[in-house]
Amino acid sequence: MRKPIIAGNWKMNGSRDSIKTLLDGIKAGMGDVKAAEVAVCAPYIYLPDVADQLKGTAVAWGGQNLSTEEKGAFTGEISASMLLDFSCKYVIVGHSERRTLYGEDDALVAKKFAVAHKAGLTPILCIGETLEEREKGITEEVCARQLKAVIDEVGIKTLGEGVIAYEPVWAIGTGKTASPEQAQDVHAFIRGMLAEHDQGVADGLRIQYGGSMNAGNAKELLAMADIDGGLIGGASLKAEDFLAICTAAD
Ligand code: PEP
Repeated sequence: MRKPIIAGNWKMNGSRDSIKTLLDGIKAGMGDVKAAEVAVCAPYIYLPDVADQLKGTAVAWGGQNLSTEEKGAFTGEISASMLLDFSCKYVIVGHSERRTLYGEDDALVAKKFAVAHKAGLTPILCIGETLEEREKGITEEVCARQLKAVIDEVGIKTLGEGVIAYEPVWAIGTGKTASPEQAQDVHAFIRGMLAEHDQGVADGLRIQYGGSMNAGNAKELLAMADIDGGLIGGASLKAEDFLAICTAAD
C-alpha cells in the first residue's frame, strides 16, 4: 500500500511574513490529515525559517533544486549538504520550469537525482510532456525518455527510493488540469515501464500528479489507482486550499 504524498512547490513566492501565516495555517489543520504524507518545498532563502517552524511537526520540507557540485566556485548554487544542514528531506529535480527556462536537460536532471540521493535527500523527479508533444502523440515517448535517463544514471533500485511527479507541462500553472483518466493513463504507463525493470519498485514507488491540482479536483485525481499524491504549485500557497488537497487523499 503506497502512502500518498502531497508536496507544495512554492516556486519563487512568499515573504517571511506570508510564509509564517501559511505554515501556521497548515500546522493548525494537520490534525485532519489522515492518510497523506505532507511536505513543502520552499525557496532556499526561507528554508531556515521553514525548518524552525516545522521542526517537530508532521510536515516535512525540502528544496526546489540543487547543484550537482559539492562545494566551491559555483556562484549562486546550493549543494545537497546545504539542504541537509537545514534538515530538508526532499528536493525537487527536473521541474519543467528548470528544464525549459534554465536549460536543464535529461542528463543534468539525472545527475541531480544521483547527487541528491547519494547525499541522503529524497528526490522528487518531475517528468512530463509539453502541449506540442501531447498533440503529436508522443507523451509516453517523452516520459519514457526522461525516466530512462535517470534509470541509466542511478539504476532502478535507486530510482525506487525517490518519488516521481508526472506533470504535464500544459497543465502547470494554467488552470487546465489533466482529466483523471488522462493522468491515470500516463501514470499506468510509467508504472508499467518501472515494472519492466523491477516489479517491487513499480509496486512501491509513489507517482504524484502535478498540474493545476486544487481543492476542487484533487479527490477525483487522487482516487485513480496509480496516482499516489500531488505536487502542488498555486494551490499550495493558501493553507485552506493546500489542506483541502491533503485531506482529499484520505
Ligand atoms: C508545479 O509547479 O509543480 C505545479 C504543479 O504547479 P500548479 O499546481 O500551479 O500547476
